[in-house]
Amino acid sequence: MNTFQDLGLNNDLLQAITDLGFTKPSEVQQKAIPLLIESEGDLVALAQTGTGKTAAFGFPMLQKIDVNSRTTQGLILSPTRELCLQITNEMKLYGKYCNGLNVVAVYGGSSITDQAREVKRGAQIIVATPGRMKDMISRRLVDISKIEYAVLDEADEMLNMGFKEDITDILSHTPTDKSTWLFSATMPKEVASIAKNFMHQPQEITVGNKNESTSNVSHEYYLVNARDRYQALKRLADANPDIFSVVFCRTKRDTQKVAEQLIEDGYNAGALHGDLSQNQRDLVMNAFRKNQIQMLVATDVAARGIDVDDVTHVINYQLPDEIETYTHRSGRTGRAGKTGVSMVIVSKSEVRKIKSIERIIKKDFVKKDIPNGMEICEVQLMSLANKIHNTEINHEIDKYLTNINEMFEDTTKDELIKKFFSVEFTRFFNYYQKAKNLNVSESTGDRESQRDYKGGKNDSTRYFINVGNKDGFDWMKLKDFLKDQLDLGRDDVFKVETKDSFSFFNTENELREKVLAHFTDFKHDGRFVNVEVSENRGGGRRNDQKRGDRNGFKGRRSGSDSRPRRSNSDFNSKSSDSRKSSRRSESNSGNSNFAQSRPRRSRR
Ligand code: AMP
Repeated sequence: MNTFQDLGLNNDLLQAITDLGFTKPSEVQQKAIPLLIESEGDLVALAQTGTGKTAAFGFPMLQKIDVNSRTTQGLILSPTRELCLQITNEMKLYGKYCNGLNVVAVYGGSSITDQAREVKRGAQIIVATPGRMKDMISRRLVDISKIEYAVLDEADEMLNMGFKEDITDILSHTPTDKSTWLFSATMPKEVASIAKNFMHQPQEITVGNKNESTSNVSHEYYLVNARDRYQALKRLADANPDIFSVVFCRTKRDTQKVAEQLIEDGYNAGALHGDLSQNQRDLVMNAFRKNQIQMLVATDVAARGIDVDDVTHVINYQLPDEIETYTHRSGRTGRAGKTGVSMVIVSKSEVRKIKSIERIIKKDFVKKDIPNGMEICEVQLMSLANKIHNTEINHEIDKYLTNINEMFEDTTKDELIKKFFSVEFTRFFNYYQKAKNLNVSESTGDRESQRDYKGGKNDSTRYFINVGNKDGFDWMKLKDFLKDQLDLGRDDVFKVETKDSFSFFNTENELREKVLAHFTDFKHDGRFVNVEVSENRGGGRRNDQKRGDRNGFKGRRSGSDSRPRRSNSDFNSKSSDSRKSSRRSESNSGNSNFAQSRPRRSRR
């Protein structure tokens, strides 16, 4: 079966296919279309985005519905508004010769009354996101009690996004004898359970390998200390001057923070996450589509359904909680026959996840080093040389040439070139000349990162806090608590170690004053929570333990008396030392200098 004619499609659809210029059915279409046309059963199809799956369920649905009836017969559920609109458009194109066809999109962030009006006019097919659909059902604005076909598109994504209850609720309003067609890129347990609970002996088809990620994407990982993540991100961007990327963070807050930092540091970046209004998201997406944004920092949920074809890099600023999500992230690049790179910035504690991802994607990662300062300077210099080499001469300059020539009368060509390039090069050179090596070796990573606070050149401060396991904190809860209290990112609090009634944690030195100020006279659940700089800056298990015991915090509920005294002069002098530390040259103070002098990047 190599042609659309062989698949049993009617002439209206074949005509539309010719108009669209589709010459050959894709694999998923070859497998699904005849099955769906011939039988009335259920189907589970494992297929990635970009394989032509919309047409695989779209053509059979269009062929089977009755366009002369105004009853809603087909429901397609999709995870995002973008995908919902995309499917609606495709369905309209596929059904352009089906006279009387009305496909309506139902999604959040747009007028529910307008959508209800359109549905009321008689929509044979509704394409919907689960949240809005459920809302419309509960307000009795749609009737899906007579549908014959239900499609769950990108089922894994919908479940990832927490739509399980909504989907269950929606399906409970549909007839039990309908046909259900489930499409998913991966088959985690939750999807299998939907198939089991809501479908009757579904036929199964698989396109490509289960869970396989896009094949023209190469996968790289970079091992750094967690607190160097942001610097590593910037270097990856600087080492790839033409980058056009999606940068994935785990939380909305980290997404916003990283985007803001990038913008402050002179990059063309934008944030995309669920706390933005639809209008703000549209603005960011439009700018990204027009390549005005080079680095789109996004959460997994917000980035779903992004169909921008020329993304050169996906950067996993943090790995996703569910490693299966990695497939969706990396699938944002290497689209439409192009190659792409999916980069992961990992800390030592996460590096084992790389192996699990390799098993899922059935591809190996290449471990790479974050480029050093001089490597970046070289890349930037050569990129500039290339740009200049390819620049078309603007002859408006001719009239100024005499003056310019006079100015450079005594300058040789060599000197002139050097001066010209120095304008740009010096900026990068000044910024990067003292940049430290961000790479952590896989075998010594732990020891190295521990050394950071166990003595020698300290970049971070170790703190003592008088809450611990007895107060319901394990290290993760304490980390979250500190992050929330101090409004910090995930990586800003590290080396969290909880004991029975007290704990320890680290931050960068520059956050020390903020941390201590926040926890001055601070009460949580009616008791004083006290933080002080751990006296033994070395920290370490033994010393930390002694420290806690010596101060008698063990099991002690604190009133104001029990708060340990902090020596202000002590930490003030230390923090002024830290200001001089070389590390600062690549953190905020360095960045802001750089940001001011750094040219705005413009792509193409
Ligand atoms: P999808 O996987 O449904 O998101 O489809 C990806 C893209 O491929 C869409 O833009 C479709 O219009 C296009 N497409 C679908 N089927 C074919 C085909 N048989 N030949 C060429 N393009 C197709």
